[in-house]
Amino acid sequence: MSALHRIPANFTHMTMRSTTPAAALMGGVLDAVKGAAILLDPSGTVLASNRHANARHSCDGQPIETVLDALAPLASADTALALAGVRAVLEGAQRSFMLDVSTIGEPPQRIVLRVTGLDAAAGGGAVVQLGAASFPGTDGTVDRRQDMSFRPMFAASLDAMLITDAGGMVISGNPAAHRLMGRNESQLAGMVFGDLFTPGSGTAAAGDAWQRLMRDGQWRGEGRLLVGDMMRVLDIAGSAHIMPGRHLITVRDITESQQLEAQLRQAQKMEAIGLLTGGMAHDFNNLLTVVLANADLVMESLPPEMEEVRDEVSQMIQAATRGTDMVRKLLAFSRRESLERRPVSLEVVLAETQALLARLLPSNITLVTEATPDLPGIHADPGAVQHMLINLATNARDAMPTGGTLTMRGAFDPAVEMPDGVTSPMVTITVQDSGRGMDDEVLAHLFEPFFTTKGPGEGTGLGMAMIYGLVQQHAGTIDVQSTVGRGTKVIIALPLADLRVASPTPRATTLVREGATETILLVEDEEMVRRAGRRILEKHGYRVLLAGDGAEALTLLRQHGSEIALVVSDVVMPRMGGRELYASLRDEGFTMPFLFTSGYTDRMSSDTVALDPSVPILPKPWTWAELTASVRAALDAG
Ligand code: ADP
Ligand code: MG
Repeated sequence: MSALHRIPANFTHMTMRSTTPAAALMGGVLDAVKGAAILLDPSGTVLASNRHANARHSCDGQPIETVLDALAPLASADTALALAGVRAVLEGAQRSFMLDVSTIGEPPQRIVLRVTGLDAAAGGGAVVQLGAASFPGTDGTVDRRQDMSFRPMFAASLDAMLITDAGGMVISGNPAAHRLMGRNESQLAGMVFGDLFTPGSGTAAAGDAWQRLMRDGQWRGEGRLLVGDMMRVLDIAGSAHIMPGRHLITVRDITESQQLEAQLRQAQKMEAIGLLTGGMAHDFNNLLTVVLANADLVMESLPPEMEEVRDEVSQMIQAATRGTDMVRKLLAFSRRESLERRPVSLEVVLAETQALLARLLPSNITLVTEATPDLPGIHADPGAVQHMLINLATNARDAMPTGGTLTMRGAFDPAVEMPDGVTSPMVTITVQDSGRGMDDEVLAHLFEPFFTTKGPGEGTGLGMAMIYGLVQQHAGTIDVQSTVGRGTKVIIALPLADLRVASPTPRATTLVREGATETILLVEDEEMVRRAGRRILEKHGYRVLLAGDGAEALTLLRQHGSEIALVVSDVVMPRMGGRELYASLRDEGFTMPFLFTSGYTDRMSSDTVALDPSVPILPKPWTWAELTASVRAALDAG
């Protein structure tokens, strides 16, 4: 009893189950604490407890799990949370922990659980206090005063703020919260924290968020709330216990910024794919030019009686031509298609396309073409626009295997929203089908090259990619709306024709004249393309000088000068490109005509020196007929 002698009389009721005098002393000390208090060793076993605790349950020597259950009957989730908090403190992960909960049972009681860690140097462990939640503020009187002092700030904040009670029930929301959530004061007051998460799928997330908020004192994450008929994405930040029994929840609507971010990511992805495919397509273009040109040469030199070989070569040409078509689409996707934009009437393009489509579409598809009268002209490449329409019609046809209606409509829209947010007047082309439509997954990948849902041999997945690139190159916009089972609507907006834009000279189509005699300087860095070009031109009677780049070409020009009747030059070459060559030879006073050939023939391309719009361009890959026709036309024009 020696130790007990020193304990004041009013502590003598402490349990005699205390195993050591030290524990007894501790229990006595704990008696000074309001409510039930227990001392835990680092393993979570009760070392000592005060009389409030023991009045309900003999605690000492028992694990905290058993004791907590006896002292405070809680819902199982709350028990788990409380125990997790205790463990966190015992393990030193947290200095202290506080939980404000309701007990189960009739009537439920609000209690506060506090866990305070003891210094590891002193042996570790923790003190657990359990008390009625009756400290100042929770009875409503002091609380109101504290509330009032924050009111002006609360009301003025542009961020939506909610104050909840200990159980997560909203008791007040500021005006910003009313606006954001589309609910008035009384509607807000009926909400609970969990309502900030989509019903159904959100309940687990809500429970988890609440537990973390209670355990860590704060939580930040995403929620979802139906406001009107729009699902909004919320950024939720919670701070627990800003006042006793009160939690603060700040809510921001991040729906728009999330959408913008997604759009930006999408645009960046397309840009990256564009760069990659553009580079590849450019190289393939050169290879195919060589294949086609040589196949043409072989064909030409085969006598008619070698029919079988001619047949094989012609298959080779067909395959290479199909490859050329794919390369053109890839170049279009990566915005490197050669475009000749000029003022164009959409009505005319639609009428011409309609005639073509009549042959393309099966009879069970009704084609409706219409245009608002007096549509303003567009600044576009008519061939490219027709290409887009035909590809859209092909997709519509494939989406309507059992027939339906395909509508192509031209209209004027005074305010089309551009990606940068400004609006501008444009002409829109709407292509709508009544086909099977697309789900979100397909829509998300629609514009990617090689994305197709069609079987091998049926789709290449290049149609929409090409359209995407062409629209971009036209500085237009494209919008696709689709519902599975209902159909698809593609709306392309193209800029109006601007009178300040000079219309480029139309491509000359003079026929090949036999027995030519002129000297032509052919400038091309790809050796095989150079060779094929020379052989074709020589077969037509031309004399051909060859240069591998602009610098070599200049040297030859200075030597042969006036003999040279025409310079045919690639645009992109090492050392000196076609643009520079053109500028230099004009500087030096040469006046002979000039013809560019290029895989990247966009006159608006980002190259520093612009192509002179009066100089014709022969896109690569060219065929025998195209090369000779362009050369003849350039010579005749000069
Ligand atoms: P492809 O037609 O070669 O498959 P596209 O780039 O033209 O390639 O189209 C990609 C995919 O988008 C198609 O495979 C199809 O799944 C879908 N798609 C395009 N247009 C439509 C449409 N009008 N209706 C339904 N699905 C479409
Ligand atoms: Mg297609």
